Amino acid sequence: MTIELLNHTESTWHPTSAGTRQALLDPVLGTTLAWAGADQIDMAGCYRWARTHGGGALRSMTYPQRADLLDQIHQTLQSRRDHYLDISLRNSGTVERDSSIDVDGALYTLSYYAKLGRALPDAHRLIDGDRASLCRDGSFASQHILVPSHGVALLINAFNFPAWGLWEKAAPALLSGVPIVVKPATATAWLTWEMVRDVLEAGILPDGALSIVCGRPAGLLDALDPLDMVSFTGSADTAAELRGHPRILRDGVRFNAETDSINSAILGPDGSLQAEEQLVREVERELTSKSGQKCTAIRRIMVPAKRYDDVAQALEARLAKVTVGDPRTPGIRMGSLVSRSQRAAVDTGIDTLSGSCDRLFDGRNRITVQAPEDSACVPPTLFGTQDPDRHPLVHQTEVFGPVATLMPYRDMAHALDLARRGMGSLVASVYGEDPSTLAHAAAHLAESHGRVHLISPDTAKTQTGHGNAMPQSNHGGPGRAGGGQELGGLRALNFYHRQAAIQGAAGVLGQITPA
Ligand code: NAP
Repeated sequence: MTIELLNHTESTWHPTSAGTRQALLDPVLGTTLAWAGADQIDMAGCYRWARTHGGGALRSMTYPQRADLLDQIHQTLQSRRDHYLDISLRNSGTVERDSSIDVDGALYTLSYYAKLGRALPDAHRLIDGDRASLCRDGSFASQHILVPSHGVALLINAFNFPAWGLWEKAAPALLSGVPIVVKPATATAWLTWEMVRDVLEAGILPDGALSIVCGRPAGLLDALDPLDMVSFTGSADTAAELRGHPRILRDGVRFNAETDSINSAILGPDGSLQAEEQLVREVERELTSKSGQKCTAIRRIMVPAKRYDDVAQALEARLAKVTVGDPRTPGIRMGSLVSRSQRAAVDTGIDTLSGSCDRLFDGRNRITVQAPEDSACVPPTLFGTQDPDRHPLVHQTEVFGPVATLMPYRDMAHALDLARRGMGSLVASVYGEDPSTLAHAAAHLAESHGRVHLISPDTAKTQTGHGNAMPQSNHGGPGRAGGGQELGGLRALNFYHRQAAIQGAAGVLGQITPA
């Protein structure tokens, strides 16, 4: 059965436009799973309804009351978890372990923000920092406050996380009292749509708090107001295009971008064999998990020059054992890319890197893919370059698939310099024993990375993984990674609030307690 992904705006379901709708495909079998299209949706009406009805109702609640909504959403989605994993298998081509990163990651993030929200004041606004006197006798002072934005939050999401990508943004927005309109990436919109439909049918949220448009509606950005917000996840090229839109460029619509990133894993100069094993295990996991289609995946591996051959051999040995194919086939460890067009993009990226790197492991010659020949399955490729200083492409080219490049470094300063050549990344991980070496590396990497993941033997069993964006920690990176900021606990709420300095008599400011 092929599903029509109806659009939900102004508290009403609207059909797709028959003439221009797009098919969502099974990336392994090529069969049509669903249709999406939103050409005829009135986006101005959608946003107006969301601001007025959804925003008004959400803002009439306090933070703990909205946290209770998140809790109910979490419970509703939890009860349908197996159904979501099945959609993910069919539409994203992922094995259960990889689908779980998306689906369970979404559930965990929702429950985390529900817990954070329950601990917030039973109030409609937040006090930000201490009061500062503006005169000698303290009769005139300044107090910063955070109030929920009265705008709408448009969430434009990437194809690789249809579940987590929605809820990691929606949870802080709804907790802040801001209505959301989600536009999932078309290729995998089915899972997002199914979750939104389940939440709407459960009647948890006020009218207008949650809307969805699948496809490319006309006026998606044109119809925004200057006090609205856009939270974008996707490629740097699309982010650049959207940033140039007059609503953002001229009218000041708040814009957060999470984009490409050439993330690094560094084996410390003092790294023991155990540290080397940890790095090798993590690289293999990042290469194969979701077929390398994670914005946080390890793309560059830096090791002391004398360890280059050992690490190359250890990685080759592990990658040779990876089974690739249809995620429905028992024993398959790595499913497919999200679409055949992504397979073509990855093939092009591999050709690009081949010009400046050696192929240390070419899965296309070593692994038999257990899927139809024209499926979107791509086995892993490990490149190596002995001279990373002379090959700028390895620091600039994001191949969004199971592809990474190994490179040697002379000393730690050289390794840190190589990592920085990504010109702003989401995450770097460092593996070693010496606490001061790890801390020193972190202080350097923090300037060009949104997150630094330090792995020492005492964290072997507890570390959360290089590529996993935990809601407690910042997700986002400077420069090339988009310059955005998400998650990081309560920090995520700032994007959906307006901060203002209130100046007045001490007695008046005393009235501005959270209310
Ligand atoms: P994409 O092609 O840039 O698309 C991202 C989203 O933007 C999709 O919903 C897409 O809709 C929409 N879009 C594209 N052009 C648009 C336009 N002119 N107007 C309005 N919307 C537009 O990226 P993708 O291929 O889905 O995702 C892969 C990329 O995302 C990778 O580069 C990856 O690094 C990055 N990513 C980053 C993060 C992060 O957190 N930093 C997370 C995941 C992925 P359609 O689907 O309808 O084209």
